[in-house]
Amino acid sequence: MASPALVEWLRYYKDLGVDCLAVPKVGASTPTQVNLEELHRQIMKCKRCPLHRTRQNAVPGEGAKRPAILFIGEGPGEQEDRVGRPFVGKAGQLLDRMIERMGHSRESVFIGNIVKCRPPGNRDPNTEEVSACLPYLKTQIALLRPRIIVCLGKVAVNRLLDMDTPISRMRGRVFSFEGIPVIPTYHPSYILHQRGREAVSRAKWEVWADMQEVLKRIES
Ligand code: URA
Ligand code: SF4
Repeated sequence: MASPALVEWLRYYKDLGVDCLAVPKVGASTPTQVNLEELHRQIMKCKRCPLHRTRQNAVPGEGAKRPAILFIGEGPGEQEDRVGRPFVGKAGQLLDRMIERMGHSRESVFIGNIVKCRPPGNRDPNTEEVSACLPYLKTQIALLRPRIIVCLGKVAVNRLLDMDTPISRMRGRVFSFEGIPVIPTYHPSYILHQRGREAVSRAKWEVWADMQEVLKRIES
């Protein structure tokens, strides 16, 4: 929690029209003084890892500048790569419906990913790609300062928190990243891959229970 004096200083600078934030250096090539637009421009031309060679478009993420909720996925898929926007395919439609049922919209939350360029064939991003790209997400979190983070699926939660635990053992619990509560839940594709009505309902119900915890925390 920031001290009251620090909060006062930040308000003072904000009133002066300052909208840049000095972000602590996380490794040699991490941007140190950027705003969100500039950061997204850097991402769009980034060549820090081999994924830049196979991408059509980098996908920085999109949404509110001070979102209540930050949703983090794994990485762009085929359609996201084609249009340069996060979660626009089938999984994205499911995510949109869930966000709406939560009383929010794409404009009131922020949607990002662990890696900003599509891993070929939608494979999981590897260690080299994640370590090259994660500083971007960490800078986004520092700039967006969301009230809560929702990690969609095992890659998102494990890479953000540097853990290696099955998602089934993580969901239902609340973690923390730099003081921000982190709620892990299933990736929307997990719901899409369930076979049989009962399995689909169970997965949806579990995700919805996780979202109730999110709403409870942002409403309190
Ligand atoms: N799946 C993800 O993890 N991220 C996207 O942006 C789209 C699909
Ligand atoms: Fe850069 Fe991330 Fe794209 Fe790799 S995945 S090229 S680090 S933006």
